Amino acid sequence: MGPLLLAGGGHAHLAVLAVLARRAPRAEVSLVVPDPLQIYSGMVPGWMAGHYTLDECTIDLRVLARRAGVRLVLDAVAAIDANRRRIELAGGDVLDYALLSLDLGSQTGGLGALGSSDRPLLPIRPLRGFVAHWPHLLARAVVTPRFHLVVVGAGAAGVEVACAARHAFAARAHGASVTLVASAAGLLPGHAPTVARRVETLLGERRIRFVCGAATGASGGLLLETGERIAADAIVATTGAAAPAWLRGSGLALSAAGFVAVGADHASVSHPEVFAAGDVCERDDVLLPRAGVHAVRAGPVLAHNLLARLAGEPTLRYTPRTRSLYLLATAPGHAVLSWGSWCVAGRAPWYWKDRIDRRYVRRHGSRAPGMLERTR
Ligand SMILES: Cc1cc2nc3c(=O)[nH]c(=O)nc-3n(C[C@H](O)[C@H](O)[C@H](O)COP(=O)(O)OP(=O)(O)OC[C@H]3O[C@@H](n4cnc5c(N)ncnc54)[C@H](O)[C@@H]3O)c2cc1C
Repeated sequence: MGPLLLAGGGHAHLAVLAVLARRAPRAEVSLVVPDPLQIYSGMVPGWMAGHYTLDECTIDLRVLARRAGVRLVLDAVAAIDANRRRIELAGGDVLDYALLSLDLGSQTGGLGALGSSDRPLLPIRPLRGFVAHWPHLLARAVVTPRFHLVVVGAGAAGVEVACAARHAFAARAHGASVTLVASAAGLLPGHAPTVARRVETLLGERRIRFVCGAATGASGGLLLETGERIAADAIVATTGAAAPAWLRGSGLALSAAGFVAVGADHASVSHPEVFAAGDVCERDDVLLPRAGVHAVRAGPVLAHNLLARLAGEPTLRYTPRTRSLYLLATAPGHAVLSWGSWCVAGRAPWYWKDRIDRRYVRRHGSRAPGMLERTR
């Protein structure tokens, strides 16, 4: 069997690397990632709020690759030619594969509409770019009187980022304020109305202004479809997920939104030697929310299926649970737990989230403190 290529170091591939460390396949395996340090998104709001150091939120893919006997290629996939079974890297190299697995995450969607603002625009993804720029934004907030941050996109990430920013400002940038802007889909689309109502109350308690209306960039800030102008000193975009544009020319079957179309076993519906998991794919049988929890849970099934495909054995289905538990960090020491229409907010959900997140990062190996700064 020819080489197995793992593209991206997302949640599902962490599980694949863990399985490969226990069970070496009879194929050469390479992992292609632009960055050896994987920042765990679930802890980024806690880092913004000052609860974690960046080292505590980071997984070292070099350690995992070494343990798994996997060759690490530090570069970004720039194109896939699925019909010729090869990928092109941003650095110019071309890699052939017999089996390809994609866990590349997603990019921040909706940036085109916001890009016409003359104010600094910071997209939440890629996370490495966000964590590199956030300290500068915070430093500006500290020295700018009545600094106003607008977070556009009121899904789970937008709520967490707005709460974390508010907490960081309260500690260091007195007088700075935060507005959270939701699209027509409203606050926390996909979550039950009871959860959205509870979170809206919390936003009010934290003095985060919440407004609804599709936003476009304008001089001095944003213009909402309602006609309201919002002045901003900086804009953070948490505007949902977009697929990498280069997938369009890959020859792979894609969903209407441009994500890799996969079946229940996470194999491409057009190319059975290509698998995809996490944000980069869309199932053809069930609508999965773009949440790390699904990338995590699909990971062991993906690992099984890659080894099964190499051995010519049948693959398994990943069956998502009908309801998932979500834990939203609403400030350090406080979180909202939601399970369907049931929700509870307070310190206990925060302790639980903190425990789960720390354990997840620890399970995938810790790093020597300061490594993130040294590899920048
Ligand atoms: C602030 C924030 C908080 C969140 N909190 C939660 C939460 O608490 N719970 C939850 O379930 N979900 C949460 N999410 C959503 C969650 O982050 C995503 O659904 C999840 O990260 C998707 O995982 P993934 O495996 O698809 O990819 P990711 O974890 O995004 O990883 C993508 C990987 O691909 C690599 N990569 C990217 N481009 C390329 C390329 N061209 N070539 C090679 N490699 C590449 C990256 O370096 C990275 O290693 C949050 C999102 C954000 C932004």
